[in-house]
Amino acid sequence: MDPKHNRKPFVGGNLKMNGSRAMLKEIIDRLNPLKFDDYVEVAIAPPSIFLDLAHRSVRKGVNVAAQNAFNCTKGAYTGEVSPEQLKDLGIDWVILGHSERREIFKESDELVASKVGHALKSNMKVIACIGEKLEERESEKTEEVVIRQLQAIAVKVDDWKNVVIAYEPVWAIGTGKVATPQQAQDVHLIIRDWLAKNISEKVAQDTRIIYGGSVKGTNSAELAKQFDVDGFLVGGASLTEDFIKIIECFIPSEN
Ligand code: PEP
Repeated sequence: MDPKHNRKPFVGGNLKMNGSRAMLKEIIDRLNPLKFDDYVEVAIAPPSIFLDLAHRSVRKGVNVAAQNAFNCTKGAYTGEVSPEQLKDLGIDWVILGHSERREIFKESDELVASKVGHALKSNMKVIACIGEKLEERESEKTEEVVIRQLQAIAVKVDDWKNVVIAYEPVWAIGTGKVATPQQAQDVHLIIRDWLAKNISEKVAQDTRIIYGGSVKGTNSAELAKQFDVDGFLVGGASLTEDFIKIIECFIPSEN
């Protein structure tokens, strides 16, 4: 548990459309020996074609997540994968609502929410991503946008214990421009306050809110000190040894 409170930190590695079987093996070979289980929950999200290989290669205690899942069980949806199929493979986690899905693939708040609802009903655990674009931050619409996205998702959630919220400002994703610890903390607190007022105090206290956007080994420790930052969703750095450093910032140094 994080000594700040009773939420176990969560670190996810989003490999996006990167890597090969050889690269995945390198990533998993770095992760498997690491003793983090008492301190932090870890998931890696490889491209869907590597999910089965990843699932068979990770040790118990390292989670594997899909980067997407559709909102139907089966049928004529060429190119899509359902939560039920992921569960059949042994995959328990899925990232939904990533800004690249929202932007490039035009996923609306409603579609994201419906995917979250279907994945949860299929007994998957969801990393639900929300976050504002640069122009929205600059026009002081951060809170409005993040809460609009959260509200859409919340309608579909019955049990928050299977949800991790990833606050990922779009201007920080893949740009090298990380949010300051204070910027991250401010938005995480807005999200937690919203959960307290609109869902329940318990859900607000128990739900992990993780930060994503240019997290690296050099900036993760400062971000992790923030009271409402419960871990990270890591893109680029999850492909490198830096991912281990990011996880290690949640492991007490005597270990
Ligand atoms: C992400 O893709 O979720 C992400 C945070 O990417 P990066 O760490 O590369 O900014």
